[in-house]
Amino acid sequence: MNATGFSPKSATTDDIDWEKIRTDFPILKLKIDGKPLVYFDNAASSQMPQQIIDRLVRYQTAEHANINRAVHYLSEIATMEFHRARCKLQQFVNAEEDREIIFTSGTTDAINLVMHGYGRKFIKAGDEIILTTLEHHSNIVPWQMLASEKGAKIRVVPINDKGELEIDEYEKLFNERTKFVGLIHVSNALGTINPIKRMIDFAHQYSVPVLIDGAQAAPHLTIDVQALDCDFYVFSAHKLCGPTGVGMLYGKATLLEAMQPFKGGGDMIASVTFEKTIYNTIPHKFEAGTPPIAAAIGFGAAIDYLTAIGIERIAAYENTLLDYATACLNEIPGVKIIGTAAEKTAVISFTIDGIHPHDIGTILNQDGIAVRTGHHCAQPVMQRFNIPATSRASFAFYNKKSEVDTLVAGIKTVQKVFL
Ligand code: PMP
Repeated sequence: MNATGFSPKSATTDDIDWEKIRTDFPILKLKIDGKPLVYFDNAASSQMPQQIIDRLVRYQTAEHANINRAVHYLSEIATMEFHRARCKLQQFVNAEEDREIIFTSGTTDAINLVMHGYGRKFIKAGDEIILTTLEHHSNIVPWQMLASEKGAKIRVVPINDKGELEIDEYEKLFNERTKFVGLIHVSNALGTINPIKRMIDFAHQYSVPVLIDGAQAAPHLTIDVQALDCDFYVFSAHKLCGPTGVGMLYGKATLLEAMQPFKGGGDMIASVTFEKTIYNTIPHKFEAGTPPIAAAIGFGAAIDYLTAIGIERIAAYENTLLDYATACLNEIPGVKIIGTAAEKTAVISFTIDGIHPHDIGTILNQDGIAVRTGHHCAQPVMQRFNIPATSRASFAFYNKKSEVDTLVAGIKTVQKVFL
């Protein structure tokens, strides 16, 4: 493992029929205004293959009941399948124990869980929380809320002109008041892969726990929480070909046990009287109420689907698209790629001189091309580059080079329309 936790360049993609993989995704057959859909908004949400749709249908048609509460057939099946999904996630991130995996409603929910469960219990007035300029708002706002409640301080790691973290500056931020680090593994706005292993190891020299926001890393990089030695790792299913409404928090068992619950309610308790409630053990302590059972089982199916292809192969294939698209966009006068880090996943944020990103997105849509335009919930990144927004094309393993050509042609059309 290198400093980023992964080396995609070593994997081979020759043994995979990527064109055949596309046929797993019914949505890719869609036409938008008569034009074939070119879906380049994968960093926001990826698409779902038929295998996972089928798994959800099977659950709803033959396995659905509430879990943990009854001895009847359906409840037992649903409980078992929900547990199997947890074990799949445990393996996917190589957690030591299945109880270290908490189902949440997504990345945002998982970060809020850690803020409430860990932060509100352990962060005090005068303490410092280190975040980076690259963070998604999900990993900024909860910590700001905590800081203002407790009188703690947020310190921010700067980035260079390529969109890479300035690691020397990160290391200089540490002192005896540093009590928490929140760190994005891969930037959703720029694609930068951060050297998280090195950063975690450094924080641990100060005994500071580190939360990794892996929302953009899990779909593209092999995650090994034990090798990384991170304290918390979070991501959402909907960026991994899974359903919306479910995500995952990995936490070291000792930390999860020390934390206070985030939400109160059914299932998170061992016993309740009006005088006193005794909380359940982990993971249940953090899963109050009926969890997203169907979505969690779909999440497990998504993990099966991706691991059958192989995350390293996926990353290597996506890198070929990234390299190709980067070369093509660099040749178009007036197009500027924002985020040129040496280590990147398949995300290209760009601007076109004299044209607002929303106009770019609107014209591209007329050619069936779905890109995202805006600040990508990463306004500090936009502020750093002194721009209001970018257009972002983000690739998945079911995209292909000819679609990049369609994007290039679309960008030239945009320029003709507006310039
Ligand atoms: N962090 C990152 C890096 C993301 O890309 C996203 C989704 N755009 C989130 C957090 C939030 O994920 P969710 O909306 O699934 O909670």
